[in-house]
Amino acid sequence: MTAWPDIVNGGFEAAAGIAVLNHCFALWRDKEVRGLSVASVAFFAAWGVWNLFYYPHLDQFYSFAGGVFITLANAIYVAMLVHFTGGWRDIGRRIRERLAGWTVCRVKGCHYGTHCFHSKALYFCTRCGKELTGRTFADLEPLTDDELDELQQEWAAEVRP
Ligand SMILES: [Zn+2]
Repeated sequence: MTAWPDIVNGGFEAAAGIAVLNHCFALWRDKEVRGLSVASVAFFAAWGVWNLFYYPHLDQFYSFAGGVFITLANAIYVAMLVHFTGGWRDIGRRIRERLAGWTVCRVKGCHYGTHCFHSKALYFCTRCGKELTGRTFADLEPLTDDELDELQQEWAAEVRP
């Protein structure tokens, strides 16, 4: 059995690991993450982890060795990306907020918490972050009697010294 395709593939894996480390150095220099998705990078890292099982299964030693290297490089890269996008705790909090907001929005509809609309502007739902363009006053939903009462009480409270 010829081993050369394994050696070539292992070479690509190792070179890809160096390319990923190059991303790491660039990120270390810029200290800012823009124009890429951490989730997508994490996907490629996961694929690399799968290969650590797959290559030995195929008896491809050189590919496995290169795979170990790129997996380590990807682990460092993902950890750095998470660090420079606000850290693990922040990511958990953002995901929880979005999920909770998304659930509420599916039931109650999105909440664009502003009363100043302009047809050329972009608005974001304060719960789930959904974008909306070109809202005008005509799109505002009429207040219910209860909401009107509440508003009038607020105004009355403000006017009273
Ligand atoms: Zn929403």
